[in-house]
Amino acid sequence: PATSLQDIISHAKEYGFVFPSSEIYDGLQAVYDYGQNGVELKNNLKAAWWKAMTQLHDNIVGIDAAIFMHPLTWKASGHVDGFNDPMIDNKDSKKRYRADQLLEGKAEEYAKAGEEEKAQNLLNEMGRLLGAEDLEGVRNLIIAENIVCPISKTLNWTEVRQFNLMFSTQVGSVAEDSSLIYLRPETAQGIFVNFLNVQKTGRMKVPFGIAQIGKAFRNEIVARQFTFRMREFEQMEMQFFVRPDTSEEWYKSWKDARLKFHKAVGLPAAKLKYHDHEKLAHYAKAAVDIEFEFPFGFREIEGIHARSDFDLKAHQDLSKKKQQYFDADLDENGKPFGNYIPWVVETSVGADRLFLAVFCNAFTKETIVSSEEGKEDKERVYLKLHPALAPIKAAVLPLVKKDGLAEKAQAIANSLKSSFRTTYDDGGAIGKRYTRQDLIGTPYCIAVDYQTMEDDTVTIRHRDSMEQERVKISELKEKIGYEVSM
Ligand code: ATP
Repeated sequence: PATSLQDIISHAKEYGFVFPSSEIYDGLQAVYDYGQNGVELKNNLKAAWWKAMTQLHDNIVGIDAAIFMHPLTWKASGHVDGFNDPMIDNKDSKKRYRADQLLEGKAEEYAKAGEEEKAQNLLNEMGRLLGAEDLEGVRNLIIAENIVCPISKTLNWTEVRQFNLMFSTQVGSVAEDSSLIYLRPETAQGIFVNFLNVQKTGRMKVPFGIAQIGKAFRNEIVARQFTFRMREFEQMEMQFFVRPDTSEEWYKSWKDARLKFHKAVGLPAAKLKYHDHEKLAHYAKAAVDIEFEFPFGFREIEGIHARSDFDLKAHQDLSKKKQQYFDADLDENGKPFGNYIPWVVETSVGADRLFLAVFCNAFTKETIVSSEEGKEDKERVYLKLHPALAPIKAAVLPLVKKDGLAEKAQAIANSLKSSFRTTYDDGGAIGKRYTRQDLIGTPYCIAVDYQTMEDDTVTIRHRDSMEQERVKISELKEKIGYEVSM
């Protein structure tokens, strides 16, 4: 049976991965909390990304910049003036929608009905109108396409308005002294304003990169599809500073490298694809999304953008601080490349979207056909997570509690603890205990039985195949010590 988003949401909640925020007060739209298993999976994904960026590249270092930044940052970046989504309200249902999403939905309908050309024309027209900021034109297009409100089914639309996605608040305790400040809508700007700090103190030579993982906030108009679109989320961004004439080459190389990363954390090639942007954001020279096939279709999980010198130049203009780099490397005429503002190739992935992709992909429902006549087939649900990403790597389970088996199992669990997250469970029938671990994706269950007491061997039960193998306790660590190989 095909997995629905509802299956994913229910499983995530029931097994301690993701809870709605402040649920006892009926939740807060588009805000979620990670539970005891979710936080482990998310941390493991973040660690894999951090390693892929910083540990495996001599020329990439990390930073951790503050969420609050000087308000002029967002002027320079273009977010104050341009970080808008066009919104439209339906007068009957009083529901708010993103005008561009309504039109994209219609285009998707055309495409599904095989009317590819009609779909493309609609997207092109939408791109043209939005590019020209012709909001009335966008509204007319919605009406001409007969797009009705999904709730009221009417065409009774308001005008289209631009809605800035940044959250703002006040700094300073006294009203008169306070000033407007934003919650960062992306982590990238914390990297740009630290470009020279890192370059100088780290004696970095172009090409080099700065990586960061951190929270970002966007007042998304339409928040749907679980953790795919949240108002508070986490980004993993890396800005790679290059010589301008090499930007295209680096863009291609990061495009490749990032796809490989997603495969390395276990996403299958068939569920990943590139989507090149025709309509470019204000800062971009070239842009591509890596899309994953969620239960609701192919959607962006990561963006790779060639940003030229847009950001550093804007910060230089507004701060009046030079953002130049002196390149001592020699050009083809034997002269140093000299001073320039580096160009930037950015890779930007949402930790929560990657989490959701990995979680959706891991969720597996299988029917186990009974071999015995008259016995019913069983359904088995488990999370097929990469062993290095699973919240718990190994569960140690004594067959029974008596005759010293429990103590032996505890001792094994303790000996593994400092290497991997290990759990000990002696509650209930062993089959039930295996199932509990399957549901949270534990790749290895280590069973301690009477033979263990005689020869110091245990069985490892493998999650996906359910096969068991007998191994020496002394070899356990080596047997299960998988890492994400990149
Ligand atoms: P979308 O078009 O889906 O709104 P975007 O193109 O605005 O995304 P970017 O600004 O390129 O996204 O942000 C980079 C990454 O940050 C995205 O690929 C996504 O993984 C993540 N991201 C952006 N907005 C959200 C959000 N509201 N909730 C969760 N993750 C997000």
